[in-house]
Amino acid sequence: MDPQEQARIIQEYKRRQKASALLRLGVVAIGVGLMFAALEAADGGIGASLLTAVLLVALVVAGWRMFVTWRCPVCHKDLGRDLSSTYCGNCGVRLED
Ligand SMILES: [Zn+2]
Repeated sequence: MDPQEQARIIQEYKRRQKASALLRLGVVAIGVGLMFAALEAADGGIGASLLTAVLLVALVVAGWRMFVTWRCPVCHKDLGRDLSSTYCGNCGVRLED
């Protein structure tokens, strides 16, 4: 593989790494918000029920985005739970300097 292509892969991996870290934070934040909104909704609040529904949709969207983002830039296989890997576990391409 030529160095230019390798650099492009590493750059793309870093971009996906950042996006995935942000998405993980987002999922946790939405999850916490959802818990409180659901508790409020259980008390019969219409606004809280609406908020619960919105947060549920946001959680599904963020989870789905995470699922499609955290993939190898070359073979597009899932990179697993670890947010830092030097090589792709599937195709073996180098992902970090
Ligand atoms: Zn791969």
